[in-house]
Amino acid sequence: MYRKNAWKKYENDYSPVMSFAKDYIDFLSYGKTERLVVKESVELLNKAGFKDASKVKSVKPGDKLYFVNKNKNLCIFVLGKRPLLDGLRILGAHIDSPRMDFKERPFYEKNEFALADTHYYGGIKKYQWVTIPLALHGVVCKKDGSVIDVNIGEDPSDPVFGITDLLIHLSADQMQKTLAKGIEGEDLDVTIGNIPLKGEKEDAVKANVFKLLKDKYGVEEEDFLSAEIEVVPAGPARDYGLDRSMVAGYGHDDRCCAYTSLRAILEVKDVEFTSCCILVDKEEIGSVGATGAESLFFENTIAKLLELCGEKDVLYKARLVLENSKMLSSDVSAALDPLYAGVSDPKNNAYFANGIVINKYTGARGKSGSNDANPEYYAFIRKAFDEANVHWQNSELGKVDQGGGGTIAYILGNYNMNVIDAGIPVLNMHAPMEIISKVDLFEAYKAYIAFLKA
Ligand code: MN
Ligand code: MN
Repeated sequence: MYRKNAWKKYENDYSPVMSFAKDYIDFLSYGKTERLVVKESVELLNKAGFKDASKVKSVKPGDKLYFVNKNKNLCIFVLGKRPLLDGLRILGAHIDSPRMDFKERPFYEKNEFALADTHYYGGIKKYQWVTIPLALHGVVCKKDGSVIDVNIGEDPSDPVFGITDLLIHLSADQMQKTLAKGIEGEDLDVTIGNIPLKGEKEDAVKANVFKLLKDKYGVEEEDFLSAEIEVVPAGPARDYGLDRSMVAGYGHDDRCCAYTSLRAILEVKDVEFTSCCILVDKEEIGSVGATGAESLFFENTIAKLLELCGEKDVLYKARLVLENSKMLSSDVSAALDPLYAGVSDPKNNAYFANGIVINKYTGARGKSGSNDANPEYYAFIRKAFDEANVHWQNSELGKVDQGGGGTIAYILGNYNMNVIDAGIPVLNMHAPMEIISKVDLFEAYKAYIAFLKA
């Protein structure tokens, strides 16, 4: 169903859409970091009978298993009836989201405040991240091999954190600056505390913070060198709009596509081609590094899977498997915002409630960096979605010369694989509070199932 309002399909009963969104809200509210998304995904997989691949000796059609990479990246399979060399059906989403990370040496004291210095991660409009409640999530890794989990600001009884901004009364100079310069990266410092440690003369507030960290977590200042503390918006995702048609939350990009992809692979069985769902880290900083889409983890994992099938010469065959595969790069699209419609080409832009969005290409300045899918493959996807009565639409990222962006599509395209972007439209993309439509979420889930079975 091309470019029609999807709510109409459910006008006799909205409950399947609403209850799916409720499960998603719980998933998003907990999954504030890539590590937490991996953790809760593994719980869902175990509950559904998927096996941890590290404990599996061989596989046969119908088997369900997953590979975890360094606690931040996940690859899931449902074995099909056909041999792996006939190719996979792959859903790929990223589970990292824009945020601020603690620097290696974050803490300092100034004017009797203890503060923590951050370096932002991914593309953010910095002025959006001040004067909102923030939570701290992550790990501190100690030299003795222990890993301390940090999670402060989500429980209603927890304190929250924040970044201050200048009062309007004294902002004459600041208000003359551009949006890009009004709040600068080096000023995204989190307020940590204000009580001085008893008997301490110098930097007594900072000393008190270290005492609290020592008492509660057993960590010293130096342990933060080997830590990963992510500063993210505090509090749960929730319904948005009087009609509860939408969800407001942090990290829809790209956890809404990750969740729907995960739910789709949890659902399928007796598939012809092996189903795969890969959830990657680091997309927001260019897909680089060990747990990002550029990592050889995926290729190595296919080789390991071939080995579990009893195949020889698996590294070469892994590449053939990938070449013969079809993929939906499940990443979000920019929805048309009625307040800023001028940046979009209205006939080639995604609309809320019109279903999952196909982006034939992304990129910027003349499709640069884009995968630009083959039309033959696009036709295959149109057929799969239409036959499953899924609502879908097409989009590109704004007007030509307005800007642009990318996804992981081109990276898998490098295997000579057919890849096309297909995901959920988002408003406020990369803001602390992003918005999606519940019916688009549900249509994406349906579309991903249809694709895995196609
Ligand atoms: Mn994304
Ligand atoms: Mn993004």
